[in-house]
Amino acid sequence: METQIKEKALVEICNHCGVNVSFGSGRYVNRIPDFNDIETRKDNNLDFPTGDFVCEQCDLNSITGNQND
Ligand SMILES: [Zn+2]
Repeated sequence: METQIKEKALVEICNHCGVNVSFGSGRYVNRIPDFNDIETRKDNNLDFPTGDFVCEQCDLNSITGNQND
C-alpha cells in the first residue's frame, strides 16, 4: 500500500486537448480538476494524461458526446 503523499506541482493543462489552463490563460476560472492518477487517465485514453485539469470545452464534450461509457 502506498501511503506516501507526494508534493508535486500541478500540470496546468487540459488532459483531453492539452490546452493551457493556468492563471492568465483565460481558461483558469472554468477549469475542472481531474483527481484521477496518470495511469487511470491513460486507461481512459486521454491524449495528455499528465494534465491535472479538464478545460470547460472538453468537460462539456465529455458530457454530451460520450454515452457509451
Ligand atoms: Zn480541453
